[in-house]
Amino acid sequence: MEKPIPLATMLPIVIVYLFSLHASCAAPTTESVHETFVDCLRNNIKTRSGGHGFEGRSYISDEPFIMLDMFNLRNITVDVQNEVAVVQAGATLGEVYYRIWEKSDVHGFPAGECHTVGVGGHFGGGGYGNMMRKYGLSIDHILDAKIVDVKSRILNKESMGEDLFWAIRGGGGLHLVISNVGERNKTVRAAVMTKFLGGTEELVSLLEKELPTLGLKKENCIEMSWIESAVWWDSFPNGAHPEALLGRKLNSAKFLKRKSDYVKTPISKDGLEWIWKKMIELRQTSMAFNPNDGRMNKISANATAFPHRQGNLFKIEYSVNWEEPGISAEKNFTIQIRRLHSYMTPFVSKNPRRAFLNYRDLDIGINHHDNNSSTKKGGFMVLSTSITTSTDW
Ligand SMILES: Cc1cc2nc3c(=O)[nH]c(=O)nc-3n(C[C@H](O)[C@H](O)[C@H](O)COP(=O)(O)OP(=O)(O)OC[C@H]3O[C@@H](n4cnc5c(N)ncnc54)[C@H](O)[C@@H]3O)c2cc1C
Repeated sequence: MEKPIPLATMLPIVIVYLFSLHASCAAPTTESVHETFVDCLRNNIKTRSGGHGFEGRSYISDEPFIMLDMFNLRNITVDVQNEVAVVQAGATLGEVYYRIWEKSDVHGFPAGECHTVGVGGHFGGGGYGNMMRKYGLSIDHILDAKIVDVKSRILNKESMGEDLFWAIRGGGGLHLVISNVGERNKTVRAAVMTKFLGGTEELVSLLEKELPTLGLKKENCIEMSWIESAVWWDSFPNGAHPEALLGRKLNSAKFLKRKSDYVKTPISKDGLEWIWKKMIELRQTSMAFNPNDGRMNKISANATAFPHRQGNLFKIEYSVNWEEPGISAEKNFTIQIRRLHSYMTPFVSKNPRRAFLNYRDLDIGINHHDNNSSTKKGGFMVLSTSITTSTDW
């Protein structure tokens, strides 16, 4: 029997919860907590918004640390008339979607599919979702942001300056999922899921022309409103009430590892056949392909700190989930995903090989925030307290 593993990672010495009482007093409350921010910034702190970073960097560390938890800074105000929302960093994506839906059933916002992901981390890295091809990333709709810097100044877009406003946006479609279904079948399973902003008839006739081999039929499609689609994509049962998006409990895998890649040239049929064989050998891994194109091609790579725009056909998310605790299970599954990532080298971007910042992957490298680190030296640690976004269309 495997021995219990000692806790290798440290938990915070102190967790600082920030409070905001009501949307109407969001501004004074924000001003009053900024001293706390700054005290924390002077120490080894980690900021947690939704706690969904794939490597847990917002709440674990090898060194003693203080955690600044944005959980209570989650006010959202939606001004439908002007199509603008003000969102605090501790809100979840589900809360953003729900609050928009409360005010309007024809407005929405382009962001990720999991309702428990936090706005703070998500927007920091770009924020993609199934409306990316039509509307781009979440950060493409950020009009303003309030942050606190290490000199305890509260800055907005104008006072932080162009460079910093650029950096906080990303310096942080069709969905094809391929997974192994086990050695016995000696096969992989591919599923195509897409959100089409239009009617079934239009979609079926479009795909009959453009992608006849897919064989899409009317009965494969479900027509729904935008908020219903947000609920459906998040794997709630069909017809679940949008209130489901307000829950903060994630019902998902116990252990996981994610990696990513960007693909710039089409992968040949032979290449794909080879990859499927390798996935069968590995047994447990999955890949999700998220196509770029559309609006993503129209935004320059320098417009925000998110660089993967024109010239990228699609992003790959490699995933492996497991339930068993213990070092041997962890080794087994992380080796599988690292091998798959390595097998994909000939097919993906090169010099440099690209990855998605929001899929944090410590295999790529780690910043050591010691006395020489850029974070302390430059005094450039930022923390958004509220973000103003356009709710769009
Ligand atoms: C189940 C699941 C589904 C996902 N789906 C998508 C998806 O559809 N699209 C997509 O783009 N991404 C997706 N992601 C990735 C997700 O966007 C990132 O992991 C994101 O960083 C999580 O943000 P968070 O606030 O929840 O996490 P946290 O762990 O709280 O934060 C992540 C990182 O951001 C920093 N940070 C958080 N808040 C702040 C703040 N206020 N100021 C400064 N730094 C801060 C943290 O210190 C940490 O380094 C998914 C992740 C999970 C676990």
